[in-house]
Amino acid sequence: MPRRARPGRNVPTPLPIMTTSDTIVAIATATGEAAIAITRLSGPNAVAIAARCFRGARNPAECGSHRILFGRFVGADGAPLDTVLLSIFRAPHSYTGEDIVEISSHGGPAVPRAILEALIAAGARAARPGEFTERAYRNGRLDLAQAEAVASIVRARSERSLRAAHATLGGDLSRRIETLDAELVALSAEVESRLDFPGDVREAAEVAVLAGRCEGASASLREWVNRLPSARRREEGVRIALVGAPNVGKSSLLNALLGYDRAIVDESPGTTRDTVEASIWLDGAEVCLTDTAGLRDSSDPVERLGVERSELAAAAADLTIVVRDCSRPEAGALECERIVAAASGPAIVAWNKSDLRAGADRESAGAGVGIGIAVGVAAEVETVAVRPGGVDSLIAAIRAALPSLLGAGAGAELPATSVRQEALLREAAEALDRAALQLSAETDDVAYDLAAVDLTEARRALGEMVGRGVDDAVIAAIFSRFCIGK
Ligand code: GDP
Repeated sequence: MPRRARPGRNVPTPLPIMTTSDTIVAIATATGEAAIAITRLSGPNAVAIAARCFRGARNPAECGSHRILFGRFVGADGAPLDTVLLSIFRAPHSYTGEDIVEISSHGGPAVPRAILEALIAAGARAARPGEFTERAYRNGRLDLAQAEAVASIVRARSERSLRAAHATLGGDLSRRIETLDAELVALSAEVESRLDFPGDVREAAEVAVLAGRCEGASASLREWVNRLPSARRREEGVRIALVGAPNVGKSSLLNALLGYDRAIVDESPGTTRDTVEASIWLDGAEVCLTDTAGLRDSSDPVERLGVERSELAAAAADLTIVVRDCSRPEAGALECERIVAAASGPAIVAWNKSDLRAGADRESAGAGVGIGIAVGVAAEVETVAVRPGGVDSLIAAIRAALPSLLGAGAGAELPATSVRQEALLREAAEALDRAALQLSAETDDVAYDLAAVDLTEARRALGEMVGRGVDDAVIAAIFSRFCIGK
């Protein structure tokens, strides 16, 4: 029986062939005063262009790969610009897969700039952001997941996030995808082999096994996606917003948590008109604290804008600290209640100025203004922001909340996964859910045909994670977020 043509059969897309013939150049190190700077050339004429600007004992054009030459670097007019080291990497044994020359010179704003201009005058073109890594990708030196990991390494803000990015660069993410893809290939083969014999009676048990395997693959993708928020917090830090009415002591609490005066503290309400951010380290995690403007209706446009920002900060925070004033328990009660209800994460209520409570019972005072231990409130503590040790209870409450925010004990470290890749994981899981549903609902040819299409769709999404079948516009968008020289 002839095989029927089925839509969207998944043929892995070959990597695009690199056709650029130009040689690109960029300063690869950060600008500003520094001991050394590195200017990088990549392309077929990299060595010849560098040789035009180099005076040394050896001619770079006659050197093999992985050689370092010492000499003078000269400008277009032949005037010496600096003494330099020239590192030569010949294709394909280089980062981009092309000939690369790296010129190590003195740092500072003037020298690398002059070297860059001399190399452009000698025939190189200024590189676009991420163009070196894009060439590495197009030449098959890295897949897209690894290329995105390079950006994560440059951006990494903690050792943990660096480890996750290195795991991805080392191929962890790509290997995970390949393992999942192998399972989908096997599943597709089984579904399609049954399509070759239409009209066959299919055992319900056999169909259930296939549906179960689709569900299993979807579940492992969803487990990955579900752990991403806590993995991101480990990478980027836990975001905590301090919200509350003006003058309840938010800035004082921020300063007490930091151990130094970061925020302006003033007796007149509405001092913190914008948001103020600072970080502390608690139990090995970076905690980014945002002090917000006081929550109250205001006719002052600057203060009103600040209130809107504080609502946004609270909505974006992983944990919200709602600050109340023991001496004025009614202040900001309704606004705080709104914030707790709208917050995406848990909240801690800090009853500040407990030294001024003067015998008033805050619970009875607070009752009827609607905050108390409400849904979403993880803890209530009393603080005295202006007294040494007065915020220990708040620090303890934040510490207690950290393990669940960081997904502690939730299995092995995930490879760094970009937002683009997260969306693709979700798409693949949804396609697998649809395939499972088709197979468990019906056992006829149509169900098998539709399941085959969904499996193809799931494989497409997984393939795009590592760059298979990604169109040029997406690739350009990914690399445009890189810095110049990377
Ligand atoms: P914010 O507007 O909520 O940021 O409040 P601030 O941090 O600027 O504090 C307002 C005033 O309350 C300042 O004069 C602080 O010194 C005072 N204050 C803050 N916390 C406490 C506290 O725990 N006890 C007492 N007695 N005063 C406090």
